[in-house]
Amino acid sequence: MSCALALDSLKLASFKGVGERTLDRLDKLGLHSVQDLLFHLPIRYEDRTFLTPLGRLRPGDHALVEGRVELAEIPPKGRRSLVCRIADGTGFLYLRFFHFTADQLSRLNPGTWLRCYGEARDGYYGVEMVHPDYQHIAETESGHIDKSLTPVYPLTEGLHQKTLRKLVDGALDSCTGDKLVDWIPVEHLEAMGFPPLYEALRLLHKPPAGVGLDSLRQAQQRLAFEELLAHHLSLSRFRERMRKQAAPLLRLPEAQSKQFRKTLPFDLTGAQQRVIEEIAADLARLKPMMRLVQGDVGSGKTVVAAWAALAALASDCQVAVMAPTELLAEQHYRSFSQWLEPLGVQLAYLASKHKGQVRRETLEAIAEGRAGAVLGTHALFQEQVKFQRLGLVVIDEQHRFGVHQRLALREKGMQDGLYPHQLIMTATPIPRTLAMLGYADLDVSIIDELPPGRTPVKTSVIPATRRPELIDRIAEWVKGERQVYWVCTLIEESEVLECEAAQNTATALAQALPGVRVELVHGRMKPAEKEAVMASFKAGAVDLLVATTVIEVGVDVPNAGLMVIENPERLGLAQLHQLRGRVGRGPGESHCVLMYQPPLSAGAKERLGILRETSDGFIIAEKDLELRGPGEFLGVRQTGQVQFRIADLSRDGGMLDRVKCVAENLLRDHPDHVEPLLRRWLADSGRYAEV
Ligand code: ADP
Ligand code: MG
Repeated sequence: MSCALALDSLKLASFKGVGERTLDRLDKLGLHSVQDLLFHLPIRYEDRTFLTPLGRLRPGDHALVEGRVELAEIPPKGRRSLVCRIADGTGFLYLRFFHFTADQLSRLNPGTWLRCYGEARDGYYGVEMVHPDYQHIAETESGHIDKSLTPVYPLTEGLHQKTLRKLVDGALDSCTGDKLVDWIPVEHLEAMGFPPLYEALRLLHKPPAGVGLDSLRQAQQRLAFEELLAHHLSLSRFRERMRKQAAPLLRLPEAQSKQFRKTLPFDLTGAQQRVIEEIAADLARLKPMMRLVQGDVGSGKTVVAAWAALAALASDCQVAVMAPTELLAEQHYRSFSQWLEPLGVQLAYLASKHKGQVRRETLEAIAEGRAGAVLGTHALFQEQVKFQRLGLVVIDEQHRFGVHQRLALREKGMQDGLYPHQLIMTATPIPRTLAMLGYADLDVSIIDELPPGRTPVKTSVIPATRRPELIDRIAEWVKGERQVYWVCTLIEESEVLECEAAQNTATALAQALPGVRVELVHGRMKPAEKEAVMASFKAGAVDLLVATTVIEVGVDVPNAGLMVIENPERLGLAQLHQLRGRVGRGPGESHCVLMYQPPLSAGAKERLGILRETSDGFIIAEKDLELRGPGEFLGVRQTGQVQFRIADLSRDGGMLDRVKCVAENLLRDHPDHVEPLLRRWLADSGRYAEV
């Protein structure tokens, strides 16, 4: 075990010849230790295991060649370049460099031997290679070439393949098999046909010539399996710890629950009732609830949270309801007031705009427990906010907050050894595979039914050439006293440009639509400005809202029934579905127009077609995962919920059952293997510290 520790703590800084600048660049790739290097797998390979005689080189070949320099010069004509001719007796080849140094030129003396790898193409003088990878060799070294394929690694700017290859070589040499312990018992490895860890890594970094794709895949799966195993184990440990924590008993007497339902202006859907029961069971368990309520936009998550809040209040506890923006917090405050005030509940709204006296009084009411339900943004969890007895924390739109923030809240709410319960609401559907991995530390409830009476959003897909038609349609729509969203997305991944584009669009639309009140929101506006615009849109003082993709999640403007999304082909399905969820929230028909830039690729056509055909967020999330891969799955990267180095759930998700099995076995029969396994895979993720 001491060897394994040495490996992940063996820093690259201690490698000979690795300078400060290289370390910085490695850092950008998340590579700090020898072990990080080993887990940094190639994206593809080049075959440099055989030499192609120059006479047989054809344009289009990727080939390794050798030859003697015949001439090297900077031709006086054309774009400045260094041209060098080599020959090997069977033919000759021109090498051409547009970027080069004087030193480079001076070392290409006639008679010198070179070995080059690159793509051959038709050049001005004959077959040539532009910017080949080359090295000087002695004539006696000719023919002594690599026996393994050459790995091509993911890079960052300023870092060269050669540097990385050399480092990985060094890493492989510095750790013989006994340093990379196989924490997975060998009988499991054998049952799955997996090679030992060291063998798998060697194979992936230096596959022998002629290696089969199957063996490579097997080796990769070997690593992915271990990574998934580590995540699974860390999760079980976290849950284990939570099971030992205590939480207050929260119970809502049946009579009060009935009364609550009676004050609502609608009947709860079956799905809402089911989720309420799931929550009720959690709250009665004396263990902190960690439940995620996931429901499509408009499925009515807020009222479920209100029920849970009432249960806390009925049990003499306070509840904190946190939303990602002031606007949403205010919206919740209004809903909660409407539903809970008739039942005698004291609410408080802690807005950042409230200062001085008002703020002091609110803080006092919270500290003394007079305010039972407290609503606000993350400001709720600042130092000065003290609760008398916090029993439940509700967090809306989970993906805006990171795991760490969320866990910090639990600690803050801890009182007399009791942890508050947590209820998290999100509209982001979690694909089955992610849910199977336990979606971090949460239990999941799903509201899979929309309230009755909603008219489904009609989705159409049109080319941008039909923009004038669309503008006429908007004019009609606004005449009918209804409001419109226009969402701009941009090809370049730059927020600045996206905002600029939205600005231009807003100006153009205002010109094309005289009499229509056009406003703009984008990500570079101050939060207060943004909220002011959203608020006036909500109040009906704006007809057409031009926005970048930052439109606030969860904002409810039932009168806005038409949404135009520009360049939808640039967004993921899940994101488009989220955007579309802003419309179709009120009576009357609603439309979503996806206006693409022609021509549309076959893949994009298929993706947009899915949106036209279904409004089921779960189907869409599954498809999105299938088409994009889970690495890009909405928000997952940012929140750090599930981040893998090697595993890919769309590819390796099938192994999860087996992972569970091996995890159980390990915990039972080899508990001493768990710690080093977690350290190996999670030491850097921050998650490890929480475990
Ligand atoms: P989301 O799940 O997107 O947060 P909300 O909780 O904001 O959805 O609910 C959307 C709208 O539907 C609100 O206006 C809410 O009052 C209403 N609503 C919630 N549940 C029902 C129901 N069972 N029947 C009718 N309307 C409902
Ligand atoms: Mg909501």
